[in-house]
Amino acid sequence: MSTLDAPVADLKGVGEALTVKLARLGVSSVADLLFHLPLRYQDRTRITPIATLKAGMEAVVEGEVAASEVVRGRRRSLLVRLRDGSGILSLRFFHFSPAQQQQFRPGARVRAFGEARAGATGLEIYHPEYRLLGEGAAPVEDHLTPIYPTTEGLHQSRLRALVEQALTQLDDAPDALPDWLPAPLRQRFDLPELHHCLQVLHRPPPDIDRDILASGRHPASRRLALEELLAHHLSLREVRLKIQQDGAPVLPSGRGLQARFLTQLPFSLTGAQRRVLDEIAADLAQEVPMLRLLQGDVGSGKTVVAAMAALAAIAGDCQAAMMAPTEILAEQHYRTFQAWFAPLGIEVAWLSGKLKGKARLDTKAAIRDGRVRLVVGTHAIFQADVHFQRLGLAIVDEQHRFGVHQRLALREKGEAGGLTPHQLVMTATPIPRTLAMSAYADLDVSVIDELPPGRTPVKTVVVPDERRPEVVARIRHACAEGRQAYWVCTLIEESEVLECQAAEATRDELTEALPELAIGLVHGRMKAAEKAAVMDAFKAGELDLLVATTVIEVGVDVPNASLMIIENPERLGLSQLHQLRGRVGRGSTESYCVLLYHPPLSAHSKERLAVMRETTDGFRIAEKDLELRGPGEVLGTRQTGLAQMKIADLERDADLLERVAPLADALLASRPEASQPLIRRWLGAEAGRYGQV
Ligand code: ADP
Ligand code: MG
Repeated sequence: MSTLDAPVADLKGVGEALTVKLARLGVSSVADLLFHLPLRYQDRTRITPIATLKAGMEAVVEGEVAASEVVRGRRRSLLVRLRDGSGILSLRFFHFSPAQQQQFRPGARVRAFGEARAGATGLEIYHPEYRLLGEGAAPVEDHLTPIYPTTEGLHQSRLRALVEQALTQLDDAPDALPDWLPAPLRQRFDLPELHHCLQVLHRPPPDIDRDILASGRHPASRRLALEELLAHHLSLREVRLKIQQDGAPVLPSGRGLQARFLTQLPFSLTGAQRRVLDEIAADLAQEVPMLRLLQGDVGSGKTVVAAMAALAAIAGDCQAAMMAPTEILAEQHYRTFQAWFAPLGIEVAWLSGKLKGKARLDTKAAIRDGRVRLVVGTHAIFQADVHFQRLGLAIVDEQHRFGVHQRLALREKGEAGGLTPHQLVMTATPIPRTLAMSAYADLDVSVIDELPPGRTPVKTVVVPDERRPEVVARIRHACAEGRQAYWVCTLIEESEVLECQAAEATRDELTEALPELAIGLVHGRMKAAEKAAVMDAFKAGELDLLVATTVIEVGVDVPNASLMIIENPERLGLSQLHQLRGRVGRGSTESYCVLLYHPPLSAHSKERLAVMRETTDGFRIAEKDLELRGPGEVLGTRQTGLAQMKIADLERDADLLERVAPLADALLASRPEASQPLIRRWLGAEAGRYGQV
């Protein structure tokens, strides 16, 4: 163990209380201090003449006390007048001790640092950091002063002194903190050396380009950001390696069964569907587990692909499981698969958290002894008490809540056969390629880039809510022509209860306005069976209009619905709006989406809604969303770990993303032993957890 891996408690003056505070900052070792980088800097490298100060400037001033007195304004304060030959300025203290009062006797020389502001006596600095100077010249700082992110009760100066100690240790023993990127690699990728980067960022020289430094675009910052991205990427690759150490059932082809399935489908597969099926088939025929992300815009036909993959598993004498993130979606899949698989004589089981008692026990028994070949449901499928006889394939629809840990945990589900199931993860969120490479470095990616034929793109209009009566008339008109419509109420202040109440109120209002229509309501707080009954009625055409909360976001499929009103669309992200809008435009009639906003709209919201009007291309929308909201929102997840970067900022450093995979390849080729320490350096305990699974 090198000295820098030593706990911070080994530093001078660090006791238990301080250790706890540092832990809150994610700092537990001496090395962690070095990677605790400044938020910004102050310039205390020169003394600013008082006459050149302006309000808002942070500066060091130096002068002689002209006068000092305690004044009573609204609040009692100690006012010290400081003169430097160029001008005069006040230092003001609202809290002060008698000793301080004594210090500032006329004629004393003081150096002070703080932000000048316009006060009662002209320019003033409130509570400056200051010191009294003796005779002769006192040196100023020789580098910019770092300001660190800190926590309650931990003062900047304390933190700064600790980092100084750590830097001194580094100076004394450079080998204690290895640069895991070897020199030839740094040269090839044009990266500065690690110690140099840390020195520059903690102690920037006065002549550094301060704008570049402040914007996080200094080569030193970028090298560290890239190293962090690299560490995340490597850890995902490690997960992949770990999973692929295990054997998986070899599933050569389910041609007979698959062919029978295809002949009963009312359509033929698109070229894109066939292509991704080939990619999947090639994976399934290997004896290592498939780890594949299937991306396809809403309505691109991912479900059929999932069914074909499931049939390969079933034909190969294995079981398949399909998991969806919500009850509604899981149930819809359950019904789709039942209808598709019944003619093939394949039984499909249903499992959700709400399945209780004997029904649950029976289902679990059937899964355990292999009577059931396909299980569809929610997360409940992957709970510890569910055992498969021989799980060959796990399909996860909408990956948002399915992170690395879940992928690792799946290894245990193939337990009986000693085999790890193949994994197919499906998402309708079109993730920009570079982001996918970082966020899903552990997955291979297949893309369905073609919609089934006969779709007409949805026309989108953006309308203020004062024109609600027109919108209602539009619904009346569409339904009179035998079509169906959705009215979506969006989330209010993240409260499901309020959202459901709003949906109920809207239903009542619309029932009054449109008495001739059959109107249904579906929201997240209804029982699963109630929801299913409403969805069925809507699907069967018994309801004209469905008022819903955003629970219908994913997967619901009613081709006759050709009109969707989204209330307060400004509350949602673009990708979410795109998902919602994908519920219409599934048939051959012209479909419309009305974004009914509540004015006034901010310029930002206007820009976002305009994107929805201009394009139906999920990838363009996602790119725009990424630009406007950032990756955490686009991926809708904290689980990728990408949202918790310490230094890298996926927007600012977007151009670095493309360099991550090549850098990882080069590093693994030339110095594979660097991978582990890099992961530990940047992911710490997190990476440890991957190891335990
Ligand atoms: P998503 O990718 O959003 O999950 P679905 O799998 O729900 O899309 O498919 C959307 C609709 O398109 C469904 O009604 C499905 O039956 C239909 N579909 C899928 N593939 C084709 C195809 N090749 N030709 C025509 N319709 C298709
Ligand atoms: Mg789907």
